[in-house]
Amino acid sequence: MTRLAVQPQPCVDPDCRGQHSPDERIALAASLCGERGVRLTRRRRQILELLWESDRPMGAYELVEALKPKEARPVGPPTVYRALEFLMLQGLVSKLQSRNAYVPCTHPERTHDCLFFICSNCSASIELEDPRLESLITENAGLVEFRPTRRVIEVEGTCSNCIAAGTAMGEVKVDP
Ligand SMILES: [Zn+2]
Ligand SMILES: [Zn+2]
Ligand SMILES: [Zn+2]
Repeated sequence: MTRLAVQPQPCVDPDCRGQHSPDERIALAASLCGERGVRLTRRRRQILELLWESDRPMGAYELVEALKPKEARPVGPPTVYRALEFLMLQGLVSKLQSRNAYVPCTHPERTHDCLFFICSNCSASIELEDPRLESLITENAGLVEFRPTRRVIEVEGTCSNCIAAGTAMGEVKVDP
């Protein structure tokens, strides 16, 4: 069965909270790669899809596991790392250093610093962008004549779902 062709729709909402369909974001990634003359190979696309489908950041070994049911032959970690390197280079994926895990960047169509709020309880991550924060970093980097190469901000805490469910750290709910 062929999947219905989804048209990429670049996001113009500056206050977007990332409510995009994975299919649309994958189509967008493919069209960005096309414009840049780089190849979103089947493997690269597959890994990007897994990251978009997951509601949590995924580690490289989790990706290796997730690929197992999809492939007749096992896909080794070096292959996964190479694909992740490509996806990061193209700004399609960010690495959360604090988790050693990967998340798809919500808006690869626009230049921005990724700001992640990561829940210590359920590992959910929420990406936001804030031009005020970006200019602040640029300004401060300038003060110390520093040239940033990676501008990903990670904030740990408790997400709204976990706060609402009362499952924040120290009060983890146990299933009856
Ligand atoms: Zn958006
Ligand atoms: Zn981003
Ligand atoms: Zn949470």
